[in-house]
Amino acid sequence: MAGLLCDGPTGLYLSCLDPRTAAEVAQVPVQALELVGDRVQQAREAGLAWRERPLAARKQAVAALHQAFLEAGPRIVALLAEECGRPAGEAWTSEVVANHDLFQWWLSQIDDLLISLPLDLSPINYPRKTGRVQLDAVGVIGLISPWNLPVAIPLRAIVPALLAGNAVVWKPSEHSPRTAELLLELMRGCLPEGLVQVVQGDGRWGQAVIDAGVDAVFFTGSVRTGRAVNLRCAERFLPCSLELGGKDAAIVLADADLDRAVEGIAWAAFAFGGQNCAAIERCFVHASIYPSFLAKLKARVERLRPLRDVGPLITPAQLALVQEHVAEALAGGATLVCGGGAPGPGWFHEPTVLADVSPTMRLMREESFGPLLPIRSFDDLDEAIRLADETPYALTASVWTRDLDLGETIGLGLRAGVVTVNNHAFTGALPQGTWGGPGETGGGVTNSRFALYHMVRPRTVVVDALSQPHEMWWFPYNEALERLSRGLIELQREGGAKLPGLRGALSGFTARWKDL
Ligand code: NAP
Repeated sequence: MAGLLCDGPTGLYLSCLDPRTAAEVAQVPVQALELVGDRVQQAREAGLAWRERPLAARKQAVAALHQAFLEAGPRIVALLAEECGRPAGEAWTSEVVANHDLFQWWLSQIDDLLISLPLDLSPINYPRKTGRVQLDAVGVIGLISPWNLPVAIPLRAIVPALLAGNAVVWKPSEHSPRTAELLLELMRGCLPEGLVQVVQGDGRWGQAVIDAGVDAVFFTGSVRTGRAVNLRCAERFLPCSLELGGKDAAIVLADADLDRAVEGIAWAAFAFGGQNCAAIERCFVHASIYPSFLAKLKARVERLRPLRDVGPLITPAQLALVQEHVAEALAGGATLVCGGGAPGPGWFHEPTVLADVSPTMRLMREESFGPLLPIRSFDDLDEAIRLADETPYALTASVWTRDLDLGETIGLGLRAGVVTVNNHAFTGALPQGTWGGPGETGGGVTNSRFALYHMVRPRTVVVDALSQPHEMWWFPYNEALERLSRGLIELQREGGAKLPGLRGALSGFTARWKDL
C-alpha cells in the first residue's frame, strides 16, 4: 500500500511508494498521536493573533503565499508525478493553474464577502438602535483531505479559511504526505509560525484532529470515512462540511456533436486515471448513435498513452477493486470495447470501456474510482434520466446535445449538485462556482461564497443609544400595550379592520408612552 505507516528505528514514518513503479521513494516522519492536541493548541494560539490582524494584512500574507506557490509550480508537478503518478499536463492544469485562479478569486472577493451587514431597524419600533451582522472566524479549522487532488482540495479550504481569520490543522492523506510537506514549507515563508499545522499519519490521526478541540471540520474523502467523521463531529456539535464520492452520469442525446462528446467524455472518464470524484462513471447514449459513438470512443481511448495521458491507480487495493468491477461486468454479459488489462508498470490499469452494461452491475452502482467507463444505450430519454438519478450520489452530471436549451432543461431536472451541458467535471476548478452535492456526496459546499458557511460564525451586534428607562415591550404589560399590538396586527392582517386597527394602534401607542 502506498504511504504505509511504519515503525522504524527513529520512530514512526510513512513509506511513500511511487504508484508508477511500486518502489519506495521517500519516508516522511510521523509525530506521536498524543501530540495532535498540542498541534491544535499551537494553531489556536497563532490564530488568536492572526484574526486580530486587519484583513488587508491577512491578504498580504496570503498574496505572498500565492506568489511562492506559483514559483513552486515545477516542484509541485514533479512531486505529484512521484507521489500520485500524475501526468505533467494534468498536474499543471488541475493543481497549479487552477489554484492560481483560486488564490486570485478569493483575494479579490474576500473584502466584499466578509463585509458586515447592517440591520435595517425601524426607528419607530426600535428607536436609536443600530446593529449589524458581522462574520467572525470560527477559530481552528480541522481539515482532512484525500490524496487524489492533494494540492487543490486542501487549498480550496485553506485559502478562504485563512483569509476569514482562521487557523488550520491539516491531516493530509497518508498517500500524499510529501505534497503536504511542500505546501507547509511554502506557508512557513509567508504565514505566522504555527498558523497552519500539518499532522501526518493514517486515519487515526484524522480522528485525533476531530477529537482535539478544533472548531469546525472540513472533510473530503470516501462515504465510509465521511460517515464516521460526521458521527464524531455530531457528538461534539462540530460544524462539519463533507465532500464525498460520486458516480457521475453523462447522457448523450441523438443530436450530440459526436466528436466533442467523445473527446469530452474520454477526458472526464479517464483523467486522474478515473480517480476523480466527478469522473464520468456511467454513460447513457441514445440508441441511434450508440454504434458510432462506441466506435469513435474506442479509437480515441486506444490512443491514450499510459502515464503520459493516464496515470496509475494509487494502491494495489484500488487496482484490485477496478479489476473486480470489470470481471463481474464481463461475467454478467457486458462487452469489452477496449482496455481491460493491468500490464503495469506499478498499479497502472488500462483505460477500459465496457458496453451493454446493466444497471444492477457493481460498476454501475458503486464508485469504481478507476479508469472504467460503462456505457448503456437508451431509446427513451425519461428512462435514461431515471437511471442517471438511480444512485445515492449526486455530485455532477452532464447532458451532451446541440440543443443547448433542451440540455439545460434536462440538466436542471437531474439530481446533481453541478450540471453541465457539453462538458463535465472541470467546474471543480472554478472558485466562483459551487462544488458539492446532496445524498451520499455529503452535502458540503466547496468554492464560491457559500464555502465560507462553516468558516465564519455570523454574530449580531446591536448598540442602543436610547436613554429612557423604557421600551415599548418591557414591563409593565398593560391594556395600552395589548391595544397597540392588536391594532398593529389588524393593520398587517389580510382583510384586517384597517381603520379601527390604525385607531387602536395610535391610541395604544400614545397611552403606552404616557403610562410608562
Ligand atoms: P478516504 O480513504 O476516505 O480518506 C480521506 C481522508 O480521511 C484521508 O486523509 C484519510 O487518512 C482520512 N481518514 C481515514 N479514516 C479516518 C477516520 N476514521 N477519521 C478521520 N479521518 C480519516 O478517501 P481517499 O481514498 O483518500 O479519497 C477518495 C475518495 O474521496 C473517493 O470516494 C472520492 O470520490 C472522494 N473525493 C471527493 C471529492 C469531492 O469533492 N466530493 C474530491 C476528491 C475525492 P489516510 O489516507 O491516511 O487513511
